[in-house]
Amino acid sequence: MAPIPRYPFSIIVLAQANPINLVLSDNRVRIGRFAPSPSGPLHFGSLVAALGSALEAARDGGRWLVRIEDIDAPRNLPGADRLILQQLERLGFRWDGEPVWQSRRIDLYRAALAELAAQGRTYGCACSRKEIADSTLARAIDGARRYPGTCRNGLAPGRRARASRLRVDAARDDVRIVFDDLVQGRIEQDVAHDVGDFVLDRADGQVAYQLAVVVDDAEQGVTEVVRGADLLDSTPRQILLQRMLGLPTPRYAHLPVVLDRHGDKLSKQTRARPIEGGPPAAALCAALGFLGHAPPGEFDGAPVAAVWDWARANWSLARVPRVRGALAPGPML
Ligand SMILES: [Zn+2]
Repeated sequence: MAPIPRYPFSIIVLAQANPINLVLSDNRVRIGRFAPSPSGPLHFGSLVAALGSALEAARDGGRWLVRIEDIDAPRNLPGADRLILQQLERLGFRWDGEPVWQSRRIDLYRAALAELAAQGRTYGCACSRKEIADSTLARAIDGARRYPGTCRNGLAPGRRARASRLRVDAARDDVRIVFDDLVQGRIEQDVAHDVGDFVLDRADGQVAYQLAVVVDDAEQGVTEVVRGADLLDSTPRQILLQRMLGLPTPRYAHLPVVLDRHGDKLSKQTRARPIEGGPPAAALCAALGFLGHAPPGEFDGAPVAAVWDWARANWSLARVPRVRGALAPGPML
């Protein structure tokens, strides 16, 4: 049997084919990204994430990439990807290079899975969600049941693996992850205790978000991950995967999530109002205000370019409220 290529090798090959990554190797160029899932049009919550990531990347003339996170196929709304890109353009966003679609990059994720499997880091799991719920009361940090490790030492006779899990081994790895988030401060998590062995290759045949995002950020040379604080608790899992795959860890800044008046995250699932119709400058100003950068009153009715100039000149993560969530301004709900 041919040996499985080591995963970092494929990263190096891609870097050589891609002059952007070569520039990055000495870390002079900041690269940020916005990674919407195409489950509906841009709404105020996703605008806030797009704006924060674009402004942070723009410091010192960095690059800003757009990545469409469409591997969770059942949640995709046909045409939403194009609509989001049109909305961003209308709001004055300008991204570098062509956007990428995760659904066209599955081979990269499969190579990373093969690398982890070759290292003995993964194992097949036959358990259904109900079996896991019936076998444990322990909760993971996201509120779901924490996997009790039923299949860790091999499948019971006659059982077939449905999914593949990462072995989060406190004896072998440093699973206590500590990092300094540029907005939320120091974050500590014991991935073995707070999460447990998590799924990388899902029962529905799709690669888990945690792995895809780690591979994409590394392959695209992303140095600044600026996104909503709803992803804060999954960041230690991503850092753990980066270490196992020999990939660099970017800087993280988790912005407050936009909440509706019930305290729920504004999302396509809660039918947040799309950003459209009204003057784009007003939406930008509202998003800036949410991020602690309310522009002076004379920007009412200003052209979009003037708002961007002001925002670039005044942007600082130090001004972003250090909370995980905050209520949307009334007109944006
Ligand atoms: Zn299992």
